[in-house]
Amino acid sequence: MKPIQVTRSSMPAFEEYIAEIKDLWESHWLTNMGEKHKLFEKQLAHYLDTPNVTLFANGHLALECAIAALNLTGEVITTPFTFASTTHAIVRNGLKPVFCDINLKDYTLDTDKLESLISEKTSAILPVHVYGNICNVQDIERIANKYNLKVIYDAAHAFGVTVNGKGVANFGDASMFSFHATKVFNTIEGGAITFKNPALRKTLDDIKNFGITGPESVEYVGGNAKMNEFQAAMGICNLRHIKREIMKRKAVVERYRESLSDIKGIKLVEPQIDVESNYSYFPIVFNKEIMVRDEIYELLRKHNIIARKYFYPLTNSLNCYQDRFNSNGTPVAKYIAERVLTLPLYADLALEDVDRICKIIISGNTDKKNLNINQIGRERVGIIR
Ligand SMILES: *Cc1c(COP(=O)(O)O)cnc(C)c1O
Repeated sequence: MKPIQVTRSSMPAFEEYIAEIKDLWESHWLTNMGEKHKLFEKQLAHYLDTPNVTLFANGHLALECAIAALNLTGEVITTPFTFASTTHAIVRNGLKPVFCDINLKDYTLDTDKLESLISEKTSAILPVHVYGNICNVQDIERIANKYNLKVIYDAAHAFGVTVNGKGVANFGDASMFSFHATKVFNTIEGGAITFKNPALRKTLDDIKNFGITGPESVEYVGGNAKMNEFQAAMGICNLRHIKREIMKRKAVVERYRESLSDIKGIKLVEPQIDVESNYSYFPIVFNKEIMVRDEIYELLRKHNIIARKYFYPLTNSLNCYQDRFNSNGTPVAKYIAERVLTLPLYADLALEDVDRICKIIISGNTDKKNLNINQIGRERVGIIR
């Protein structure tokens, strides 16, 4: 059988993309904020429901530039339950990440544990909307205001998510979105920063272009993180289809939920109230030992189905940070990282394939060995449910 990857990039029709890039052969303007870039930025601001958006070559560099533009110093409180990028962006800016644990409900920052980590040196909080689950934005805002801290959200997973009808880009001082090929919405590679203070635009735009502020002046030690015209053209095309793509993902997620909710030993994330999801990932957490997760991961592989241990390891246990940080202070994150598996999910994943994946998981779930397979779905047990 054809392998099923964990994700599959959304693409417009070939002819649609060709029509979009045709102008570039007339203008010969390939990068440095051309017409496609301007148009895409405008469309994106509308879609993300926020006035202030600026585009980047990728999400990671966008995050690095946002940290630099906000002039952060000292320590930044963040989560280890994320992609390497979040922690790297802090460290590569010469700052110290301080790791806060996550909550068991949606795997975002546990705001009850946040205040005790704030020190004289803390300048910001960098939470992650994990799997598109929205952080406790009210608590984070309250704590940030109390201690005069900046807030930058890693919203790489949260493209198009709304809370009470309001775009998720509207929380905090800034948010980073990733348009990497594997994300819900892609520009091949790409990213954006949305931000609250309009004055930040110039700083961000200068930093992503070598810190150049005029023909003969370079005011910042900037980098090169500009989005090019071919990326912007891909964005324009993919944005036309985003609503339908998300609806298709929703159908896949609903199918997974039908088969896997109420299975003994497996925990799903409850949908958040008032949040319109983008169905970006489908994580399942095995209640039992680490072994079950790894066994099922291997079992799926034998069937040519690629799931992902995402996020594992935690960023505070990555090889490059082994002598600097450890995961002892973040036990909940450690617990989840050792038991989580994200299942294949993309708009065109066939529902029959979802059924097949669920059958394999259920058959391999050692918690279930003494149960008749036809009874599955009727029992509710679990340590962390
Ligand atoms: C994808 C991702 C990034 C990095 O984005 P790129 O566009 O790949 O550079 C950062 N943080 C999280 C949580 C991500 O998933």
